[in-house]
Amino acid sequence: MWRPHRLHSNYDVVIIGAGAHGLAAAYYLGKKHGIRNVALLEKSYLGAGASGRNTAILRSNYRTPEGIPFYDASLQLYRQMSQELEWNVLFSRCGHLSLGHSDSSVTGLRVRAENNQLLGVNSRMIYPEEIGRLVPGINLSRDTRYPILAALYHPPGGIIRHDAVVWGYARACDRMGIEIHPFTEVTGIEVANGKATNVITNRGRIGAGTILNSTAGWATTISKMAGVPLPIVTHPLQACVSEPLKPFLDCVIVSATLHVYLSQTDKGELVMGAEIDPYQSYSMKSTLPTLEQIAIYTLELFPQLHGVRVLRQWAGICDMTPDFAPIMGRAQEVSNFYMDVGWGTYGFKASPIAGKCMAELIATGKPPSLIEPFTPARFHTGQLLGEKGAAAVSH
Ligand SMILES: Cc1cc2nc3c(=O)[nH]c(=O)nc-3n(C[C@H](O)[C@H](O)[C@H](O)COP(=O)(O)OP(=O)(O)OC[C@H]3O[C@@H](n4cnc5c(N)ncnc54)[C@H](O)[C@@H]3O)c2cc1C
Repeated sequence: MWRPHRLHSNYDVVIIGAGAHGLAAAYYLGKKHGIRNVALLEKSYLGAGASGRNTAILRSNYRTPEGIPFYDASLQLYRQMSQELEWNVLFSRCGHLSLGHSDSSVTGLRVRAENNQLLGVNSRMIYPEEIGRLVPGINLSRDTRYPILAALYHPPGGIIRHDAVVWGYARACDRMGIEIHPFTEVTGIEVANGKATNVITNRGRIGAGTILNSTAGWATTISKMAGVPLPIVTHPLQACVSEPLKPFLDCVIVSATLHVYLSQTDKGELVMGAEIDPYQSYSMKSTLPTLEQIAIYTLELFPQLHGVRVLRQWAGICDMTPDFAPIMGRAQEVSNFYMDVGWGTYGFKASPIAGKCMAELIATGKPPSLIEPFTPARFHTGQLLGEKGAAAVSH
């Protein structure tokens, strides 16, 4: 799939972090811009970060006029990805339902439906009768703590095989001669006169023409090495998977009010997740209180699942920004230091378009218009993006 390499003394581009984002940027640097003297440095195995731990939900039903076209462009790339990489990434476009359980949450979903439609994204409000037809097992009783009043239905959303995306990009990068270096940890970055010169690793020092920080949950640790401050905090996010069940759920279900979401894999397992842990941490250990929370809220939606056993539970770490939108661009403090970070709980779906846009920015020096609003400078100008309503629990 990808070959081992000796670490060379110099690269045109050094990408720190070989998750889906770092790999996608490397892929488009090689594919679209012919820049192949690129090293991807990964402190662990490929996919060890959130790219191998997420719940693989893809969608573009965001809230803001900046977010919606950006995520939609990513969904288009995902649709072509199996052909593009000649590698089946198992994208199942099963549809995505965000449930509303109160007047205020339904109002928020309506705003998203309107904004989506205005920008050409297929989303619409549906009500209990249609919800019942799409998800026959869901509890539509009015006699619950949070009855389901309506839902935002987004047919193009779905789930993908996250490992396949990572492996597909890695294989394609390797075929272009781009070097992937697993178990290569960056421990320092040397900066002189506002320019990064060398990257220090546990395997030695390397010169870098350009550096891209794509380390998600670890983003601030790398930026700090270059002297670039980031308004990001890191929180764990947990998920779990049940034993396989007969297929009964052909749609992704999200409830922001209940802080839970679930989908059923092709194998029949239920993949269930929650909101971020309420404290900052770099720990990737799962906890019993979160599992209990996921179970309680899942049973409010599907009481018939009460006897189902959980097979595995895990955690990843997420780089949270104040406005629940990513940071993509060049650092003001260090002229050749780029960032593709702040992906929080929702960044897997963005990896192809983020990689494509970051590659263009690095190759041409100009940010594509799709990512201009996500510039790190917005935290100085105050032009924040306000995507929380569509990105918090919904991933
Ligand atoms: C439980 C969970 C569920 C999620 N569900 C969804 C979802 O359904 N849909 C969605 O779109 N998003 C989801 N996300 C978020 C999504 O997974 C992330 O935003 C996305 O994968 C980030 O990708 P990345 O490539 O930027 O980072 P990562 O995949 O985290 O890669 C960063 C890499 O950097 C490496 N690294 C760190 N420090 C160093 C160093 N010093 N030297 C070298 N390498 C280093 C790490 O080992 C890691 O492999 C979820 C996340 C979690 C944890």
